[in-house]
Amino acid sequence: MRIDLLTLFPEMCETVMAESIVGRARKKGALQVCCHHIRKYAYDKHSRVDDCPFGGGMGMLLMAEPIAECIDDLIRHLGKKPHLIYMSPQGSVLTQEKMKELAAKENVAILCGHYEGMDERIIDRYVDEQISIGDYVLTGGELPALVLADGISRLIPGVLSDDACFEEESHYSGLLEYPQYTRPADWRGMQVPEVLLSGHHANIAKWRREQSILRTAKQRPDLLEKAILNEKDKAFLNSLCEKLPENAKNS
Ligand code: SAM
Repeated sequence: MRIDLLTLFPEMCETVMAESIVGRARKKGALQVCCHHIRKYAYDKHSRVDDCPFGGGMGMLLMAEPIAECIDDLIRHLGKKPHLIYMSPQGSVLTQEKMKELAAKENVAILCGHYEGMDERIIDRYVDEQISIGDYVLTGGELPALVLADGISRLIPGVLSDDACFEEESHYSGLLEYPQYTRPADWRGMQVPEVLLSGHHANIAKWRREQSILRTAKQRPDLLEKAILNEKDKAFLNSLCEKLPENAKNS
């Protein structure tokens, strides 16, 4: 898969995407990430990419032409239009489900806004979808784009050591992940649950599943409404029911 980031701060994006798991995955060729500098497509001698909004108002807007040139150049290079996402607080709020959907694509390009945003005509002409990372406003689209790119990257085969790494994680199947512990088994008098030291794989799997359900019911009961639960899970949930908050009981 290839992810293209279109930004005024390509170094910021490149630095983050060169680190740790994603950086190693890029080096071994499991994933391609390219950062493009929108300012490179400015057409005046001061390399300006922003201007005042028509109708007045606070702040500046990114102009359409440099962004359009940057996108057109990418389309020429790829030989096709990538799925183009504009990071925006006005978009649909990002979920793990959306990350899964995007990770299955061959090409995803992510456009980062800045200042007060960008000329609406870019959205009308090129953007396939707008994604928000939450109901708050940041100064630019780079951090949101990096959140999205990181989340997609780790779902691509070969990026993590094993697909099981993410399949059991929070949100993948609709539940939160169970509690985890590492050495030492006794840390400042706090013990690791006995079952995890037993070596009994079936009991460990059962404990983990139940802990996932319990934790989701306690911390994010809203998620239980959509989680895929089998008969054993439902029986366990019913046995907990007395202790749960009201909305978890209704699921
Ligand atoms: N004036 C815009 C509005 O009210 O919708 C907000 C512009 S914001 C200051 C500048 C840029 O940051 C946006 O164009 C977008 O790319 C990015 N951004 C800010 N908050 C975001 C969020 N929650 N999710 C995704 N992108 C965000």
